[in-house]
Amino acid sequence: MQSYDYDVIVVGAGHAGVEAALAASRMGARTSIFVIKLESIGRMSCNPSVGGPAKGHLAREIDALGGEIGYVTDLTGLHFRMLNRKKGPAVWAPRSQNDRQLYSQIMRERLESQANLQIIESLVTAILTCPDGVCGVRTQSGREYRAPKVILATGTFMRGKIHIGKHNYAGGRSGEPAAEEISHSLLKLGFPLGRFKTGTPPRVDLRSLDFNLLEEQPGDENPSGFSFYRQVQLKNSISCYLTHSTSQTHAIIRENLGLSALYSGIIEGIGPRYCPSIEDKIVKFPDKDCHQVFIEPEGLNTHEAYINGISTSLPPQVQEQIVHSIPGLEHARFMRYAYAIEYDYIPPHEIKLSLESKRLKGFYLAGQINGTSGYEEAAGQGLICGINAVLALEDKDPLVLKRSEAYLGVLIDDLVTCGTNEPYRMFTSRAEYRLSLRQDNADERLMPLGHALGLVSEERWQAFSRMLAIKERERETLCSTNTSRHPDLKEPIKFAALLRRPEYSFSDLEAFGYQKPEDVSPDIAQRIELEIKYEGYLKRQEEELSRFFSAESLPIPEDIDYHKIGSIAWEAREKLDRIRPQNIGQAMRIPGVNYTDTSSLMIYLKKMKLIKNA
Ligand SMILES: Cc1cc2nc3c(=O)[nH]c(=O)nc-3n(C[C@H](O)[C@H](O)[C@H](O)COP(=O)(O)OP(=O)(O)OC[C@H]3O[C@@H](n4cnc5c(N)ncnc54)[C@H](O)[C@@H]3O)c2cc1C
Repeated sequence: MQSYDYDVIVVGAGHAGVEAALAASRMGARTSIFVIKLESIGRMSCNPSVGGPAKGHLAREIDALGGEIGYVTDLTGLHFRMLNRKKGPAVWAPRSQNDRQLYSQIMRERLESQANLQIIESLVTAILTCPDGVCGVRTQSGREYRAPKVILATGTFMRGKIHIGKHNYAGGRSGEPAAEEISHSLLKLGFPLGRFKTGTPPRVDLRSLDFNLLEEQPGDENPSGFSFYRQVQLKNSISCYLTHSTSQTHAIIRENLGLSALYSGIIEGIGPRYCPSIEDKIVKFPDKDCHQVFIEPEGLNTHEAYINGISTSLPPQVQEQIVHSIPGLEHARFMRYAYAIEYDYIPPHEIKLSLESKRLKGFYLAGQINGTSGYEEAAGQGLICGINAVLALEDKDPLVLKRSEAYLGVLIDDLVTCGTNEPYRMFTSRAEYRLSLRQDNADERLMPLGHALGLVSEERWQAFSRMLAIKERERETLCSTNTSRHPDLKEPIKFAALLRRPEYSFSDLEAFGYQKPEDVSPDIAQRIELEIKYEGYLKRQEEELSRFFSAESLPIPEDIDYHKIGSIAWEAREKLDRIRPQNIGQAMRIPGVNYTDTSSLMIYLKKMKLIKNA
């Protein structure tokens, strides 16, 4: 009989690892988490920002399930903005700028104060196995730790190689060592490894910028955070700033392309299409004469600022020329230089929907090592791994979220079903059910699950249940009560029918005789308004989806010119053109071709009378 030191071992304390460890220990498992440097727990490797399109949805879903990213983001946020306000509510996206150091410090405090959880600073060098699966890890010092469940969340560290111009050296992130041996241990166990890359821009001293030439971007007047039912006073304590690249910037980049690690062929790994380097932007969009550049302060106790939009692997002296060619940054003093990093990942066809490895029982994989990119994507996978490791210990079925339930379900299903041949990032267009998967209703979709798992505190659960009861009661009132007579109406109608009209909002109802009870908060009012207004769209979404999924066998003409279909994303057009699927079913299974692209293809085929009944 094997004896164990822990129930669950988590390797890595980045965004995936911390969620995995907190979830497992909160569910009662004796857990340990390994990190190379204690000071780096929860470190934001790139920009100190959480949320944005689809990522904001993920952060709120993680919070609703009982994860930590949303809460720590709210506690350490310096600047909050709801993006896409002018578009439909399905794509509204909360985004925050955070204090990088404070985020890491608070996350460490959350881990240190967690019962059942031991933090160990040590580099893990090998995964230990027994005849029936994984059974622990070995560290650099030769010490072995035993557990029946091991979660690997090592981010960009496995055989990490940092590139600046033609120089490169081993490193997991700037200033931190790479994890070399663990890749060899995985290879010995039969795991295939691929190579991806990512990059980060330079950081400069805020005091050296000319603010007269920068456009201020203040936070929202009424900031929205990420965490449900936790009392955090959100504050906008800083502004961000906008400037742009110039024709001089572009000329410098073109002249020096041969010195870029990316363009001189030194980097083999594939980079994230959606966070392109500035070299990429100049080469791929030669006609664009400027690109946006955001200046994002890194914290309250530092003058360091992140220059969002100019991630690069060019040499330091060229980086200086680039930055100094941008209005407002002419005299910017560098604090850190940009770099690119290449690392090993495990192709996600190796994992099941539970995130357990198919190859090794009890071994779970989370975050960047599954081929994803981004804090929220990593945190979501970490949380699911932590939960599923404990459910497996209890002989229970794993938690597998459906695509219709959560962006997290979409993310994991995409990875496992389609794999990925480039760093995977979440987008709203990847979610077929995006009208119902809004960021504002993540609590209604997922909090009951989080509570049942023991991850949502009783206090939060009570607050959620109260909100739900008030919302249901008031919705019922609006659906069953008539308006009073009003000059705008020929005769009284139900309040709900009035609210369905695009010209009216919840706050207009009072003019028609509705008396809003005091317990209906602005948040509840907005939820009711969205639900009632979008009822018809949701029904249509259901019908469209059932038509879509029954269109599997519709043939696609062999000579179709995908480049003529502007409504299909450029990336998808390229893939369709290369692979030339024979039918719609095949098209929809191509990684990188999503539901929206396939729908656009079907609409085009129908319009051109190339298929019927689409
Ligand atoms: C330079 C750079 C630029 C990036 N740019 C972007 C971007 O533009 N957009 C974007 O969305 N994402 C970007 N990312 C990615 C983002 O940082 C990651 O997606 C995210 O941090 C992944 O979280 P993770 O938990 O998987 O790994 P990480 O946050 O990398 O954490 C890994 C953890 O594992 C620990 N660890 C590693 N190996 C071992 C070991 N053998 N033993 C013990 N502990 C170990 C480390 O100490 C660390 O705590 C960038 C990352 C880097 C490094």
